[in-house]
Amino acid sequence: MPQTAPTIPPVRDFSAGLRPEALSVPESGIVEVYNYGNGRQGLIPMWSGESDIATPAFICDAATRALAAGETFYTHQGGIPELREAIARYMTRVYRALPGGAPFGPERFFVTVGGMQALELAMRMIAGAGDEVIVPTPAWPNFAAAIGVNGAYARQVPMTLDGAGRADARWQLDLAKLEAAVNGRTRCIIINSPSNPLGWTATGEEIATLLDIARRRNLWIVADEIYGRLVYTPERAPSFHDVMAVDDKILFVQTLSKNWAMTGWRLGWLEAPPQLGEVIENLIQYSTSGVPVFAQRAAITALDQGEALIAHQLARITLSRDILCKALAAAGRVQFARPPGAFYLFCRIAGEPDTRALCMRLVDEAGIGLAPGSAFGEGGRDFVRICFARAPDQVAEAARRLASWLNKR
Ligand code: PLP
Repeated sequence: MPQTAPTIPPVRDFSAGLRPEALSVPESGIVEVYNYGNGRQGLIPMWSGESDIATPAFICDAATRALAAGETFYTHQGGIPELREAIARYMTRVYRALPGGAPFGPERFFVTVGGMQALELAMRMIAGAGDEVIVPTPAWPNFAAAIGVNGAYARQVPMTLDGAGRADARWQLDLAKLEAAVNGRTRCIIINSPSNPLGWTATGEEIATLLDIARRRNLWIVADEIYGRLVYTPERAPSFHDVMAVDDKILFVQTLSKNWAMTGWRLGWLEAPPQLGEVIENLIQYSTSGVPVFAQRAAITALDQGEALIAHQLARITLSRDILCKALAAAGRVQFARPPGAFYLFCRIAGEPDTRALCMRLVDEAGIGLAPGSAFGEGGRDFVRICFARAPDQVAEAARRLASWLNKR
């Protein structure tokens, strides 16, 4: 019997009545490649910014115990006092003391849903319609998006790869160019060091100069130092904590995601002058209303007992980085700066300017999933990002596949 076709109502344009800020957010170029290649048999996925290590049992057990004890209720907006204390202990251990020698107190720390919410809160406090925020690029795409959804404008300052092709190549942030980008609407500079996707790690001098610019131009600094422990030579990267005074306008974005292999827990913190406590807690109340207590219990365990885990991750990514850099340097046609921090290699492949198309082809023809540099803003277009926070033998296999693909071209 012939079937009558169902009547499809005319498609309504739901976006017509939406706020322009909501529509300003672009689709992530990384997600596009992920959606194309995810689930392919045998593919080595190196597109996302996370390690392949699952959260270890000693951290998960703390959450399980909290659930069994009935910790399932509404909670403090700024985080449970025990976690804020644990963050202060951790910060004192790693960064020693606040300027003037005072220990870090729990009142500086606000527990958030990942580093992403810490960034979101920072932008909500600082930058709205008509304002500008300076972002050195290539950068994690969420910076520009978090600025845009608040109606502000991300003014990009492209960095350059100096000494490309040489062993001592380094990404450079031109601080004079950055200061020249400041205008009457500028409210803030975002500094992500060590950087995603570059691995660029600001020197102590660069950090001091950036702080000087911010002080002279009366700007906020949002310091995203989430990869500060994942550096390959000193114990930690230079930090704004090393040079700041207590009354500097600095907000720090932090997360449990990377150091402690907890990306899916969505746990982080915002560090801010304690005088902003009420504002921050109100913003949390009217957005997420806080972070689940059982997850916060796991965070306490991670911070107090997680040093061996960080050391293990660092040893693993050091091996993986060295394998990848050696193989790609030998492959020819690939230019990069050996990253001094974080777990990404941002590289340019000669003769492949369209890296979106290149990443799709590498899924099909080489069995590796990379992120196109065009997703990371100005200066990234002809690069790809490779996340090497994976088992060293897998990274070696991925490098072998990429090198052999390049040889055939
Ligand atoms: N900051 C940077 C530079 C990142 O790369 C990320 C995640 O990739 C984050 C912040 C936020 O991490 P999460 O929201 O997972 O804690």
